[in-house]
Amino acid sequence: MKAHTKDTQAAITPQIALQLLKEGNQRFQEKHMADRDLLDQVNDTKSGQFPFATILSCIDSRVSSELIFDQGIGDIFSARVAGNFVNEDILGSMEFACKLAGTKLVLVLGHTACGAVKGACDDAKLGNLTAY
Ligand SMILES: [Zn+2]
Repeated sequence: MKAHTKDTQAAITPQIALQLLKEGNQRFQEKHMADRDLLDQVNDTKSGQFPFATILSCIDSRVSSELIFDQGIGDIFSARVAGNFVNEDILGSMEFACKLAGTKLVLVLGHTACGAVKGACDDAKLGNLTAY
């Protein structure tokens, strides 16, 4: 499986992008991950990247977007922060991903048993995590 090119990215609509993620998650759940050589994809993307989706997710070690959506190098922008919330830095990254790099879909991915969400609900205080 090759990395996306400018032409393959241009052919993807938001609906197709969502479908690609759903199909990738189905492959993950069925343990039928796509056959791809990640080092080949590194080489494919050495002069440019054409990801089709931007995913905002938690830093939780159990929820890696690339893995659970069975995506390769150059397929998605992955923004991660505890509790998968948006601040100006992340929003700026999303603006870059959509306006300049051409992704077609923004997906905000939550997960069960999120320690960050539980901490926020419990009004936990912790150094820089709750500095504001
Ligand atoms: Zn979490």
